[in-house]
Amino acid sequence: NKRYILAQRPVGMPDDTHLRLEEVPVPRPGAGEVLLKTIYLSLDPYMRGRMNDAASYARSVAIGEVMTGQTISQVIASNSAEFSEGDFVLSNNGWQTHAVAEPASLYRLDPRQAPISTGVGVLGMPGFTAYVGLREFGKPKAGETVVVSAAAGAVGQVVGQIARLQGCRVVGVAGADDKCDHVVKAYGFDACVNYRSDDFEAQLRAACPQGIDVYFENVGGKVFDAVIKLVNDFARIPVCGRIAHYNQTSLPEGPDRLIPLMGKILVKRLMLRGFIQSDHLELLADFRRDMSQWIRDGKVHYQEDIVEGFENTIGAFQGLLQGRNRGKLLVQVAAD
Ligand code: NDP
Repeated sequence: NKRYILAQRPVGMPDDTHLRLEEVPVPRPGAGEVLLKTIYLSLDPYMRGRMNDAASYARSVAIGEVMTGQTISQVIASNSAEFSEGDFVLSNNGWQTHAVAEPASLYRLDPRQAPISTGVGVLGMPGFTAYVGLREFGKPKAGETVVVSAAAGAVGQVVGQIARLQGCRVVGVAGADDKCDHVVKAYGFDACVNYRSDDFEAQLRAACPQGIDVYFENVGGKVFDAVIKLVNDFARIPVCGRIAHYNQTSLPEGPDRLIPLMGKILVKRLMLRGFIQSDHLELLADFRRDMSQWIRDGKVHYQEDIVEGFENTIGAFQGLLQGRNRGKLLVQVAAD
């Protein structure tokens, strides 16, 4: 069993001094348990937070512990009546090639219904995040303008497509021209602006002639600063992520902007709402029903970025924090 252990807490970008690859014997399943082989490891931005020792909504990974993560796994030995060898499941095995699991912790995946990789993507946690954030907190109405950042990523691509299905004008923000082209051509966004371009703010204003009614916040930083200037009265801002700050080691230079921001929140009657998808699992069945239907009907499309080889996990994760991924990032650990 190969696995990545959190050896040291990173300050800034994590690398192989923080995440150590080691090899240990493959575990044996106990009574009622199954032995799983990892097919895909999902790489997600929240993992950066779990490497820190700060209090958060979820427990940090301890030093010496296997790095946490969702996996698409295959049963290779079973002491359970529920699962047989060859079955595919969604599991929480972390960054390792094998693990033992209790059947109750697994969700069965049917490869005839959808590619199994989608279980950690459009039909999994990121897709669910998009669904929850819009339905519960963004509440877009037809004709409104919805802006989403990290627009080409796992969550953002789904946010934009659901908002389009609801009759909104959808504007993406992403960090590369090819990502912007893709969200417009493949997902039907009305426009997409590259936040790395010199005239980003002017481009965003031009793309939102009626202002912004919903901003699905994934990044923070300069994108938030540009968006907040354009929000309409009663705009809703589901705060989903702040990836621009995950590797930050100190506060940015410049004046404290909290007071003008609070003023804006009051005068514009804004609703900013942080949310964590796992607080809303009562919507999971609705999500799976709606999203499967949308995919079958060709109303929602998706892109996955599959990196081959477990030994490339750290590099792939660094790429996620720098915008190198094109769509939902996964590591292919074994053939499916
Ligand atoms: P993505 O697939 O969108 O990948 C991350 C993307 O973030 C990168 O491709 C990059 O795109 C962008 N990014 C990286 N660094 C920066 C930066 N400094 N400034 C601006 N953008 C940056 O990841 P996910 O879709 O999985 O996650 C998107 C967001 O949603 C994250 O903030 C994540 O933490 C959050 N999230 C929150 C959940 C919740 O329950 N609240 C659940 C799941 C995700 P680009 O080229 O556009 O810069």
